Amino acid sequence: VEADGYRVLVDCGFAYREMVKRLTLLEVEPESIDALLLTHEHGDHIRGAAQFHKNWNTALWMSQGTLQASGFSPSARVQGFDPDQARFSIGSFQIQPFSVSHDSRQPCQYRLSSNGLNLVVLTDLGTVSPQVLYQLRDLDGLILETNHDEQMLSDGPYPWPLKQRVRSDQGHLSNRQAAEILSQINNQRLQHLLAAHISEKNNSPEKARQALQQQAPELAQRTQLLQQHSVSPWFDLHL
Ligand SMILES: [Zn+2]
Ligand SMILES: [Zn+2]
Repeated sequence: VEADGYRVLVDCGFAYREMVKRLTLLEVEPESIDALLLTHEHGDHIRGAAQFHKNWNTALWMSQGTLQASGFSPSARVQGFDPDQARFSIGSFQIQPFSVSHDSRQPCQYRLSSNGLNLVVLTDLGTVSPQVLYQLRDLDGLILETNHDEQMLSDGPYPWPLKQRVRSDQGHLSNRQAAEILSQINNQRLQHLLAAHISEKNNSPEKARQALQQQAPELAQRTQLLQQHSVSPWFDLHL
């Protein structure tokens, strides 16, 4: 996410080399990133973070629980916070972490504001609490988990305990749950809705899109699906 020449990266789940390859496609030098905001310690969110920090001394921000679970040593450039208390700035960004329910030590997601524009990244959560919905007010951009289609998950190849984990209150949002969120928030100024964390085994882009469009047809032109094997273009938010 970029604003006024400052750049932050939310999570770093690819290995460092792959991350740099992808950033290069967007004409971003890794050393130009001011901070990584980490959501939780699962590998698909932090895999490349340690190397990133080692190479460029990039600041790392995460919850205390994520800090402990991921094994980073706290320092001036590695900060742990309490997601329900913290609010901090990086350049022109105001950053509001907030707790989510997911099966890791102390997971959070982020609301980023700059120059009157608001963006929320919301993946890896099991349930949508009133506290989460509160963070989704007045959004200009939303990156929203549409992890699985409930039927495909049931019929799919995952072993039973993993199926139960994914659909539990500490798991991942289904297409239906993601769509429900859209009916509970004010979408009026939303410029981009990006569907993310889409399962390759338990979902299809068509099903994710269908579910979102059914609930919020007015957002059809503003919705994009993010894919794990390709790099999306930049999405611009304007006042
Ligand atoms: Zn996770
Ligand atoms: Zn994840």
